[in-house]
Amino acid sequence: MSALTQLCEEIIACRDCELAKYRIKVVPGEGAENADLLFIGEAPGWHEDQQGRPFVGPAGQFLDQLLASIGLQREKVYIANVIKCRPPQNRDPLPAEIQSCRKWLDRQIETIQPQMIVTLGRYSLARYFPNESIGKIHGKPRKLGGVIYYPMYHPAAALHQGSLRQTIEMDMLRIPQILAQGKELLQDAVPISSEQLSLF
Ligand code: URA
Repeated sequence: MSALTQLCEEIIACRDCELAKYRIKVVPGEGAENADLLFIGEAPGWHEDQQGRPFVGPAGQFLDQLLASIGLQREKVYIANVIKCRPPQNRDPLPAEIQSCRKWLDRQIETIQPQMIVTLGRYSLARYFPNESIGKIHGKPRKLGGVIYYPMYHPAAALHQGSLRQTIEMDMLRIPQILAQGKELLQDAVPISSEQLSLF
């Protein structure tokens, strides 16, 4: 069993917070073990809770379309959430639940070692940039500790607010170039300055 599969089994067995009482299935995440790109959503919704898989409802269908727009299928990336169990009635996750679940995503990231982490929505944004607003920093990559962080609106935002659809599509279309540039810079072992970052 691979390290990531073993980790998913541990996640599935977790009962560290109250959400364990309400879930049908744990949604650890899925995708390529050696993915360059890791997408982090918020929490499972109804569909995900039924199936134990991330982004399989309407927001997931849009995410699949966005991935297709850059020539990717979900099997080629890794998709996970900040919270691994559905909060009842899709309420916002509580700070204690986020804290309790934090270790799992940390360990997933350690195992996958992605080159680029795409945050989808405000909960995953807050994990890395707690004081920033999505409206200001979406579509702007930042490099920290050898990883590119790229904030995007949550795909569900386009379903509620049609005007965001194009913004999300445009932000997605920039990912291949950012990833390629980031890799080149890493390969050459050039320390990345803030000036280079603004090249993105
Ligand atoms: N929204 C999320 O943030 N994650 C999912 O897995 C599904 C919908």
